Amino acid sequence: MILFHPMDFLIFIALGISIWAQFRVKGTFNRFTQVQASSGMTGYEAARRMLDANGLHDVPIEPVQGALTDHYDPIHRVVRLSEPVYYESSISAISVACHEVGHAIQHQQSYPMLVLRHRMFPLVNLTSGAAPFLIIAGLLFQWSNLLLVGILFFSAAVLFQLVTLPVEFNASNRARELMVSEGFITNEEERGVAKVLNAAALTYVAAALISLLELLKFIMIFANNRD
Ligand SMILES: [Zn+2]
Repeated sequence: MILFHPMDFLIFIALGISIWAQFRVKGTFNRFTQVQASSGMTGYEAARRMLDANGLHDVPIEPVQGALTDHYDPIHRVVRLSEPVYYESSISAISVACHEVGHAIQHQQSYPMLVLRHRMFPLVNLTSGAAPFLIIAGLLFQWSNLLLVGILFFSAAVLFQLVTLPVEFNASNRARELMVSEGFITNEEERGVAKVLNAAALTYVAAALISLLELLKFIMIFANNRD
């Protein structure tokens, strides 16, 4: 069994990027929590107006505990905002609030990548849990068919992460456009909004990069074993 694969070097770098991205998203969020939006709108008010502007009057907004726990729940059609985002009127708060509404609008418009993501979810939920065990067992017992099944299972999870990327970027773009056009933020404030949203997007990119490199590594091991 191979203890150190040449790909591990790249994976290690990607892991470093991922950890840096996590720190950066928290740092950027905290920095722009100190900057108040000149419109004075809270995250709740911005989200409510963005939902209403898109005819989503029936989608409620609820405060939830925890930091950066904000999300859109497509099953119950609810936008959930962490308490600081819900109640505060900082650049960070309204950026995150509008990003989550971006997902609600994607859902309403059946944005293809979101639809694909929802369709993949039950399958990925099943395969991603089993993949590591299959891969480890395949490597340990030098059983290439088992390794292949593990790789296929893991591929589904990687594909899911890749599909997540356009979904996240698109939600942020929708948020930024509407925030400017509806006057939630000024043109100068948009730079801060972009920083907050880009920092969050980078964490998804880093996570996808790690998975992609790991998948490549297992494919290389599989190809080697076959030779
Ligand atoms: Zn998102």
